[in-house]
Amino acid sequence: MRKKIVAGNWKMNTTYEEGEKLIQEIIEKKSAVKNDVTLIVAPPFTHLCCFAEPLCKAGIGIAAQNCANHEAGAYTGEVSAAMLASIDVQYCIIGHSERREYYGETNEILLEKVKIALKHKLTPIFCIGEKLSEREAGKQFEVVNAQLQSVICQLPAADFEKIILAYEPVWAIGTGKTATSAQAQEVHAYLRKVLKDTFGVAADHTPILYGGSCNPTTAPELFGQPDIDGGLIGGASLKAADFISVANAF
Ligand code: PEP
Repeated sequence: MRKKIVAGNWKMNTTYEEGEKLIQEIIEKKSAVKNDVTLIVAPPFTHLCCFAEPLCKAGIGIAAQNCANHEAGAYTGEVSAAMLASIDVQYCIIGHSERREYYGETNEILLEKVKIALKHKLTPIFCIGEKLSEREAGKQFEVVNAQLQSVICQLPAADFEKIILAYEPVWAIGTGKTATSAQAQEVHAYLRKVLKDTFGVAADHTPILYGGSCNPTTAPELFGQPDIDGGLIGGASLKAADFISVANAF
């Protein structure tokens, strides 16, 4: 059936030395994780080149946290999908709420990023989710539908099949306020329905991860839901023991 995936988003955390230590700990503990769970780590850009080989040898995927929406050229400070692919990065987080909120990334820009990532054979981990005010107004379905329609639903079917989706309610990210398993399942089931309306049965194979204060305590119930295929983990991915314990929560 669907892949089970646990991906760690380190955000702007760890110096190179700290990151190297964390990677070693994760690699050492990896044997405790069941074979049917795909582990992915998304360290900062500066760490990717040196981490790609040890992670690959350990059977752990490596992701970037972002990529440019342009192919190449005069875009100071940006990192392109081609550059990431050239150092064997396999996945790219696109559309994280922090990128949308602090860096003005619109759905139009995100569609460009998803297309460029796919062109360079990076698997996008595409993030969507509603803000607290939107949830309080009962608009969560409307918001995530609009995010899907303007990006993922624009893709040709063959590209859609390569996508990993992450539902991350913004009010749950880094707040310690996890969505209940019922709240998360309700949205995940809705997302799968929207995808099915556009892409048909292919949507049955799309991994939909939950993200937002997911930790070793909350993961078992979340991962037990029929439409939750794993997690995108922020804070808890910065401690190897917690990250591995989340991966063992299925
Ligand atoms: C995230 O940033 O993707 C995330 C889910 O963060 P946290 O787990 O810290 O809420």
